[in-house]
Amino acid sequence: MTKSYAKSDILFEAAKKVIPGGVNSPVRAFKSVGRSPIFIERAEGAYLYDVDGNQYLDMICSWGPMILGHGHPMLLEGIEAVFRNGTSYGLPSKIEVAMAEKLCSLYPSLDMVRMVNSGTEATMSAIRVARGYTGRNKIIKFEGCYHGHSDALLVKSGSGTLTYGVPTSPGVPADTVKDTLVLPYNDLEALKALFAANPNEIACVIVEPVAGNMGVVAARPEFLKGMRALCDQYGAVLIFDEVITGFRIALGGAAEVYGVTPDLACFGKIIGGGLPVGAYGGKLDIMSVVSPIGPVYQAGTLSGNPLAMHFGLKTLNYLEANPQIYSELEGKAAWLVDKIGNIIDQGNYPMSMIRFKSMPCLFFAKGEMFSYDEVKNCDTTLYGDFFRRMMEKGYLLPPAQFEGWFLSTAHTEALLEALVVAVDETLKEMFA
Ligand code: PLP
Repeated sequence: MTKSYAKSDILFEAAKKVIPGGVNSPVRAFKSVGRSPIFIERAEGAYLYDVDGNQYLDMICSWGPMILGHGHPMLLEGIEAVFRNGTSYGLPSKIEVAMAEKLCSLYPSLDMVRMVNSGTEATMSAIRVARGYTGRNKIIKFEGCYHGHSDALLVKSGSGTLTYGVPTSPGVPADTVKDTLVLPYNDLEALKALFAANPNEIACVIVEPVAGNMGVVAARPEFLKGMRALCDQYGAVLIFDEVITGFRIALGGAAEVYGVTPDLACFGKIIGGGLPVGAYGGKLDIMSVVSPIGPVYQAGTLSGNPLAMHFGLKTLNYLEANPQIYSELEGKAAWLVDKIGNIIDQGNYPMSMIRFKSMPCLFFAKGEMFSYDEVKNCDTTLYGDFFRRMMEKGYLLPPAQFEGWFLSTAHTEALLEALVVAVDETLKEMFA
């Protein structure tokens, strides 16, 4: 039976008149999977429901935050009291202290942390702090890593080789990104060479320790270890962008998993429990340059907002009290990758199913993926076809090839078994 999307289509037409492209974040437009978006009415557990009443198994989980599924009852406890006490003061409150203490206790190397409202704000602020602390301007990022949409970080590189920053978006002046140097992911030799060529000029290196924005591409351990050593050697600040990986792959994020501690770390997504929250933090001497104790200015009217802190802190407390969640999620991801991997092998389909810890990803290309150069060979047209067929069956995958799949505690084994059956059927249809 074909689903109806009539109400979503009507909303999309109305939205396009008043919101650019009809959406508040570009990936939601479903452009790269060749159809119009659906509009969500509500979510519960592992499911999303659109305005036409269609139900989907949600493999997006809001791009990471919903690790406990949608509407976890634990999050509702005490919510009325938070509302009655006021949802924004613009002044300090007790829960902000508890939140900062919790983040510092869970994540390796955090002495101090500043709350902000998004991952973009977190990385943008961390870069400013690293520049202020070192008195240097140049920053290094890696191709295929997304760190939000602030000007200095919105840069792609020429393929494979070192290049000075070229703005990815009109509106980002070339001057703003001239100090953003871009290297291929997992290329330690290129990093060594770049440091050697700019020995006293690099303020920081920012990296997604497990890249989650070109599909899932994990750093090789020696890449992160070597990066740590080079930052120490040249006096540069190492920034881990753990906006996706923080509290998803382990309580201590990728720093814990790899045993490599950054000087600064950035968070978002899970630490807001579904509300808009970000944070950046790190070593005492570096964070001591932040205003008002230091000269580096950074501020926010809604930063540390009581409602957002309530959701975030409750989520972190729950994860800390139930650490088995991490092995369970990883077990589910391993099972999924094994089953879908078998289907791919048996059908000899031009695809690979991989994972890092609890982060699975399906690539429409064969072979190992360690950098953007390898990932970009994926067949995005085939992915679009696959996405649309899966959606029709009630499975909402990320509406873009270069994204991972997200799991939550609400994704039961039975639901994942049904997902595997749907993948098998869909690939048979596509490659019949
Ligand atoms: N860093 C990473 C690794 C991300 O995946 C994202 C968003 O997807 C960001 C930063 C930006 O976060 P936000 O969308 O909350 O601004």
